[in-house]
Amino acid sequence: MKKIAILGSTGSIGTQTLEVVRANPDLRVVALAAGSSVEKMEEQIREFHPAVAGMWTEEAAADLRSRVSDLPVKVVAGMEGLLEIAVLEEAQVLVTAIVGMIGIRPTIAAIEAGKDIALANKETLVTAGHIIMPLAKKCGVSILPVDSEHSAIFQSLNGEPADKIEKILLTASGGPFRGKSRRELEDIRVEDALKHPNWSMGRKITIDSSTLVNKGLEVMEAKWLFDVDLDRIQVVVHPQSIIHSAVQYVDGAIIAQLGTPDMKLPIQYALFYPDRRPMEGKRVDFFELGQITFEKPDMETFTGLKLAYQAAKAGGSMPTVFNAANEKAVGLFLDRKIRYPRITELIEECMEHHKLVKEPSVEEILRTEQEVYEYIAGKVK
Ligand code: NAD
Ligand code: MG
Repeated sequence: MKKIAILGSTGSIGTQTLEVVRANPDLRVVALAAGSSVEKMEEQIREFHPAVAGMWTEEAAADLRSRVSDLPVKVVAGMEGLLEIAVLEEAQVLVTAIVGMIGIRPTIAAIEAGKDIALANKETLVTAGHIIMPLAKKCGVSILPVDSEHSAIFQSLNGEPADKIEKILLTASGGPFRGKSRRELEDIRVEDALKHPNWSMGRKITIDSSTLVNKGLEVMEAKWLFDVDLDRIQVVVHPQSIIHSAVQYVDGAIIAQLGTPDMKLPIQYALFYPDRRPMEGKRVDFFELGQITFEKPDMETFTGLKLAYQAAKAGGSMPTVFNAANEKAVGLFLDRKIRYPRITELIEECMEHHKLVKEPSVEEILRTEQEVYEYIAGKVK
């Protein structure tokens, strides 16, 4: 029996993780946490019987407490609640499926408590990779990638030492606006940006995919997970999303992982690694597919990716600036307060304005996040 805790259980990755639990009777959920969806959380508690459940606000937690008062579940709230769940004695694996930098502290706490991390929350690694990766090594825990590209790389690496990697080929669908000009991006509405061609995901990552900021975050995530230099991570646009990423080795061999776009596979792979479990679902049919295609990413139109490489090269607190500015700007775009091209413009302005901190501590990372938020608040009234 493998016992898991899930942060962000009501979201896209969270609910798909629970589908994997349903299909594998030897997985048990010991704790769940979510933001504000009390109703969904109640349903999940009644089905999966966790010992602890967390909600972000005290009001949501109080509401949940009264709804599940007939059950022996402890309801916790806020960051304290997330931290309590992260270090819960019974849990062996923490699935981090919350959005944003809020994942940093619980992830660190879980690693220190000896939990393996099934990591979907890429923002944590992007901003605090220099803290997370050495800490995981020191504590002897595994960081198992859930992001489909990183799972593909992880699967392609299986059994090969890292010094045999020539480069990583990180694939990207190119998003819904691939081929558009800068001028055409001016008029993008929220509804247009929320339509991803191949994947169904949470709102923030769907916008990030359309700006290529998501791919930029994934480049940084790959750098930390696989310990490779930035110039050996190449983004390849592959609109059909069949090759989920690949590794090119020193002898020229390329090993890739292919499959239909379904996050349940990387989730299940992370939860059972090194075991590969059976899974139902649609299979890739090469004859039906006919052909797959590749392109260079257009970094002049989709500056999100270019800025990500710049932030990653600068290092230190710059990836935090990139990420925090994006989080804030995407929120403003979703609230219809700014136009679509403003997202990447704001990221650029925040990066230009920032004074770099070389090896930021968690406090400095969170302070940088706050400074970026305030800077943007001053610009967007
Ligand atoms: P989502 O918006 O669908 O779900 C987010 C979850 O986090 C929800 O359960 C929400 O209630 C919870 N949450 C939000 N704020 C919270 C808070 N303050 N406290 C506790 N819980 C909170 O997001 P998602 O698409 O599932 O993405 C989650 C993470 O996984 C992101 O970092 C994303 O980049 C990454 N990711 C997602 C996918 C995907 O297919 N959806 C793929 C790869 C990586
Ligand atoms: Mg991805």
